[in-house]
Amino acid sequence: MTDAPSRVRSLVAGNWKMNGLEASLNAAAAVRDALPGLGANAPGVMICPPATLLTALAAVAAGSALTVGAQDCHPAPSGAHTGDISAEMVKDAGASAVIVGHSERRADHGELDRIVREKAAAAHRAGLTAIVCIGETKGERLAGLTLDVVRRQLRASIPSASTAANLVVAYEPVWAIGTGLTPKPADVAEVHETIRKSLIGHLGEAARGVRILYGGSVKPDNARELLALPDVNGALVGGASLKADDFLAIIAAAA
Ligand code: PEP
Repeated sequence: MTDAPSRVRSLVAGNWKMNGLEASLNAAAAVRDALPGLGANAPGVMICPPATLLTALAAVAAGSALTVGAQDCHPAPSGAHTGDISAEMVKDAGASAVIVGHSERRADHGELDRIVREKAAAAHRAGLTAIVCIGETKGERLAGLTLDVVRRQLRASIPSASTAANLVVAYEPVWAIGTGLTPKPADVAEVHETIRKSLIGHLGEAARGVRILYGGSVKPDNARELLALPDVNGALVGGASLKADDFLAIIAAAA
């Protein structure tokens, strides 16, 4: 554990990935309606739908504690980039955050740390929080490289002007995403401690306030143990965020 464990309001963010049609807004509304009953220790709650639902989900969330994030953005504010959306467009659609560097983007679109950093900087330029994802592959873990990998990804993916207000880091072991596998709690704690120390090295003492989320097969039955670990300040949840009941159980585990 780091010397002075950070006291930050945790965040539970749902990543819907390429799932969700208009009817899925009912699940978001059910989450929204349950939040007032969670009490004073409730975490921040965010849903990151596909871009097609950003505006509609922002309307569902309006006036409630539910916040909205996007799943990606282009580094440029506008221009000839067919099919992409800019951070400014994400903001305009009603989101307050954007995920960058998710391992599925790194794998499917060849995104390297440099482009992830540019996307995070674009998020900051637009006034969004950047949720920067990092994490090792199975091969890297088996080779004992996990801590080196997350240190390298952090150094290369995080804009130097990041603050606790505009940066969230999500530690997502690639081999745990969508597989039902999770690292041992002690391994999660070790990586989060390493991330915290690296962040302090890059950003100074203010980095104690940066939220570090764990992501990778978080479910209602493992959330409490994972979320209680030192320097785990919430969760990034994929599959289990698609059903309101499961997502709410994870949110309750963070409260
Ligand atoms: C994710 O895609 O960010 C994720 C953590 O997925 P899952 O919870 O389904 O493993």
